[in-house]
Amino acid sequence: MDSVLALYYKDGTKDIIIEEAIKAEGLPYTRLEALDNLEERVKALILGEISPSSSQLGNLKTFVESGGVLIAIRPNNRLSKIFGIEDTGQVQKDGYIILKGENSYEDISYKGKLQIFGFSKLYVGGENIVHLSPSERFGGIIKNQVGKGIIFVVAYDFSTTFLTIQQQNSQVGRAYDASMVEVELSDVPQLDLMRRLFVNLILEGLDVPLPKKWYFPGGYKALILLGGDQDGANYNVMNAVINLLKGCAAPYTLFITPRDQPLSHDEIREISQTGIEIAVHPNFVGYPFTEEEFKAQLKKAEEDSGIRIIGSRNHCLRWEKITDMPVWLEKHGLQYDSTLGCNLPIDKPGENPPKLGYFVGGGLPFFFIHPENFRRIDVLEEPLLVSDDMLWLSSDRTLTVNDIPNVIKTFKAGMGLSQEKAFQLIKRFIDDSLEKYYTVQSYDFHPFYLWKRMSDRCFRKIVKYSKNKGVLIMNHREWNNYWRSREEVRYVNLTWNPLTKTLEFIIQGKKKVKDMTFLAPLLYKGTKAKVYINDVPVAFKKERICQRLYAFFTTDIGPEKIRVKISYQ
Ligand SMILES: [Zn+2]
Repeated sequence: MDSVLALYYKDGTKDIIIEEAIKAEGLPYTRLEALDNLEERVKALILGEISPSSSQLGNLKTFVESGGVLIAIRPNNRLSKIFGIEDTGQVQKDGYIILKGENSYEDISYKGKLQIFGFSKLYVGGENIVHLSPSERFGGIIKNQVGKGIIFVVAYDFSTTFLTIQQQNSQVGRAYDASMVEVELSDVPQLDLMRRLFVNLILEGLDVPLPKKWYFPGGYKALILLGGDQDGANYNVMNAVINLLKGCAAPYTLFITPRDQPLSHDEIREISQTGIEIAVHPNFVGYPFTEEEFKAQLKKAEEDSGIRIIGSRNHCLRWEKITDMPVWLEKHGLQYDSTLGCNLPIDKPGENPPKLGYFVGGGLPFFFIHPENFRRIDVLEEPLLVSDDMLWLSSDRTLTVNDIPNVIKTFKAGMGLSQEKAFQLIKRFIDDSLEKYYTVQSYDFHPFYLWKRMSDRCFRKIVKYSKNKGVLIMNHREWNNYWRSREEVRYVNLTWNPLTKTLEFIIQGKKKVKDMTFLAPLLYKGTKAKVYINDVPVAFKKERICQRLYAFFTTDIGPEKIRVKISYQ
């Protein structure tokens, strides 16, 4: 057996999104080069959108009939037909999938609709476990038992849905309009949930208790990122921020403005020495939106701070398309961006004020994918939930944007909230994240409003509430480093022995990381897990995630091999 779970798709296609989803969910998998002898090599196979040859069709049929689990994304009729599912030839453009909570595959703590983009194929046959909308008679995900195995047909365009929601271009030149998320669905991290729905097919379809890398270190179930944009704040302002952060022991990322920098080199270094991360806040409003200009501003920020900067957020959330800023960041060695996610409504009569939400579909970070060759751009987006100016400034505030010639839009840009009202809104997001969505919220608290005492009480309350509730708080660099190190951790030689009901594998990382969290199902056929690390039994936390019980355990990770054994005896 090569692996329990395998993936087969063609390089240079949008199917890379499937692999990104499996990586984000932390499942062990291998990528296959060919589809022969599947039944001897793997137990579950995810198949990208390929046109299988006759011999491949034969291989896939034998695999499922002998007990394999096959997940096929928008299969053509030749493929689906051998598993009793017929493509009607009709399609649905965009729309939704509907989760009714009627089966265990749908168990993601959410009932209702999720947005989808691209063309869904309309199939008949099999059992609809997730429905399409508006074509409600048809399945978004269809299951059929064939021989000893199961096929799942994913009828909607999984990859296009992610690419459309996560990496929109802006028409006006700022991230305010770079969202396809419906305002009514913005409280829900739709794509985080859609990844979980997808891997549920594997976890529920397979008779093997697969381990997962959990999202957060230390067994935490939700995460908050804190930072803010300098926007020319002087030392007086920054000193107030330093004291506030010390007072509540909170991490923070300061995105510094190199084109507007009243702080001396010594002052920036002093700020950095208090533990505040220094990142860059390039200003392209009034300066050309070019790679040259970005390079010059980055260079100045690094000289001013004496620090190798790894993260960026554009001033005024300047944003055009995926092939400019993310590609510049990658080229100049930066690792993360945190510009997307803040959506503003157009100013017109009857339009509601702006709201905070998951406007790029989720809270978990994601790598940009190049839209032409579908390669990963090595820049991690850490999406914003809200920029705090929106919270405090008056509800009749508008913002007219004209960064791109001949394009002008006016947005509603204020909510006019008290600090208490803002905290109550934020608290709801924290509670939902902790209790059912297990995701990240990133808050942009500008030093200016903290110093002005317009936001300091709200900030303190968020920190205090999060600590009391057991929500992890990080700065952007810490989160980037953790997420990347987590991905670098490989599972080696994973085996499942059904006779001894024992799962064994090696985990091996690259960099040293503390308290990386893993999980495995708490029970297998009614018997509880025992977890051993390097042959020593270890304690674990019992956690309920959606409706399932898991054993959560943590271990420090590094280049050395760690042997894990999970036994259900
Ligand atoms: Zn700014």
